[in-house]
Amino acid sequence: MFLEHLFENPNDIINSIALAIENVRENLLKILDRKQIILRFYNLSQILQLSNIKSHLINNYLCFRGTVLRVSSIKVLVESIHFSCLDCKSQI
Ligand SMILES: [Zn+2]
Repeated sequence: MFLEHLFENPNDIINSIALAIENVRENLLKILDRKQIILRFYNLSQILQLSNIKSHLINNYLCFRGTVLRVSSIKVLVESIHFSCLDCKSQI
């Protein structure tokens, strides 16, 4: 249940846990350090193959293993596109 929410709503879950940790740090431990808490999860059960990462997983929390060989910016691959004429409204 938790993992399902984490994978589908990572921003909500991670921000909520970070807020809870900040609350404990400030109110219970009396540590007034303003360093940002960055959460990481290890040993998650759903490890994906890199070839199975598709666009429907955008905004999901993903776990995969691999070695980074090269880094570049993300480019959109357009598979089909439709144009329409503003005058006669015909579509190409
Ligand atoms: Zn036209």
